[in-house]
Amino acid sequence: MSANSPKVGFVSLGCPKALVDSERILTQLRTDGYQISASYDDADLVVVNTCGFIDSAKAESLEAIAEALESNGKVIVTGCMGAQAEEITRVHPKVLSVTGPAQYEDVVSAVHRFAPFSRSHDPHIDLIPPQGIKLTPRHYAYLKISEGCNHKCTFCIIPDLRGRLVSRPIGSVLEEAERLVKSGVRELLVISQDTSAYGFDLKYKLDFWNGMPIKSRMLELCEALSSMGVWVRLHYVYPYPHVDNIIPLMAERKILPYLDIPFQHASPRILKAMKRPAAAANTLATVKRWRDICPDITIRSTFIVGFPGETDDDFEMLLDFLSEAQLDRVGCFQYSPVDGARANQLDNPVAPEVMQHRWEQLMELQAGISHDRLAAKVGTQIEVLVDSVDGQQAVARSWADAPEIDGLVHIKNAGDLQPGDSLQVSVNASDDYDLYADLAK
Ligand code: SF4
Repeated sequence: MSANSPKVGFVSLGCPKALVDSERILTQLRTDGYQISASYDDADLVVVNTCGFIDSAKAESLEAIAEALESNGKVIVTGCMGAQAEEITRVHPKVLSVTGPAQYEDVVSAVHRFAPFSRSHDPHIDLIPPQGIKLTPRHYAYLKISEGCNHKCTFCIIPDLRGRLVSRPIGSVLEEAERLVKSGVRELLVISQDTSAYGFDLKYKLDFWNGMPIKSRMLELCEALSSMGVWVRLHYVYPYPHVDNIIPLMAERKILPYLDIPFQHASPRILKAMKRPAAAANTLATVKRWRDICPDITIRSTFIVGFPGETDDDFEMLLDFLSEAQLDRVGCFQYSPVDGARANQLDNPVAPEVMQHRWEQLMELQAGISHDRLAAKVGTQIEVLVDSVDGQQAVARSWADAPEIDGLVHIKNAGDLQPGDSLQVSVNASDDYDLYADLAK
């Protein structure tokens, strides 16, 4: 890396999948000899990785582009919103280039075009960390196993933005996981649009890892990751029957007993209107079956209230489901139409005030459930991974808490703890979402 190599500013918006895209682009830019700048002023140009999932995310993306244009002037746009380039160029005609999600090569070649430099980069001298550039803290990392989605949920435009399911061959996923673990990562967060569909597009074909044949399939992936000696957490799983095969690995603590399953609703009528994967599954029976195999499994889910046509009865069904299922972690969104989504054509929109009231009712019910489930952990010892330390206070997570979206474990008298440390703590208090603990004696 020379002091003369151009500097690229980078803004990464959106979900963990977009973050992984950002990491790949940054890794490639560093490999090509670019420097990464922390400020707009200092950068030769700025790349904005946008999110286009819902209207508020698009507005945030447009604002970030405006800020980058104002502060720097040379802006390349990529990411989910880039799939609708004209929406960006209409508002910001001065952007230099717009590419869609996961188009790493196109972004990188746009950077080469608009910030060229003559010195040839020597990859033997200009070292990139073998795990690439990561935007998460050093001790955890997202591991993206596939791109795109074969479903057609009516409220979602991700398949239009990111295309159909394309799974990475398992050998390359496992090699990346090994590199991350060697670089100090203690927790791998497996992400995709549909983790349970992993390998379906490849017909679960055999690949090789460490010279051994291995199928590109969810069970084999989990088993192989479990051999790496770090926490392995699964996100975006759907309740297909074959997911049952993964639960014994959780019961044996080979992977974390944690499932992030976006159920979105409990009324069969609404699930059908949403065209959700596994809409006909008996979800309560599935949850019970999983808890029979792995009693302390943590189940996280998200729900949408106010989907077009949702009646009081549908909503009551959702509340009953939550009371019965006693899920550990729940996120809830009020339905908001996304440009291009088929749900926009559905009749009977729910009035905003009804939606707000339903959202409040759901959040209140779930806060009580979460409160009770966390209170049951007071007096126990749990293993945690430390995320940050400030003086004598440390913030950590247990295996029941994914970064960014779940609760925290607050530790007093942190002593010499460092981010990335794993240790046992004694839980002495709880509230609706977090636990409070001391170092275990
Ligand atoms: S499963 Fe449904 S919500 Fe998820 S990415 Fe695919 S279409 Fe969208």
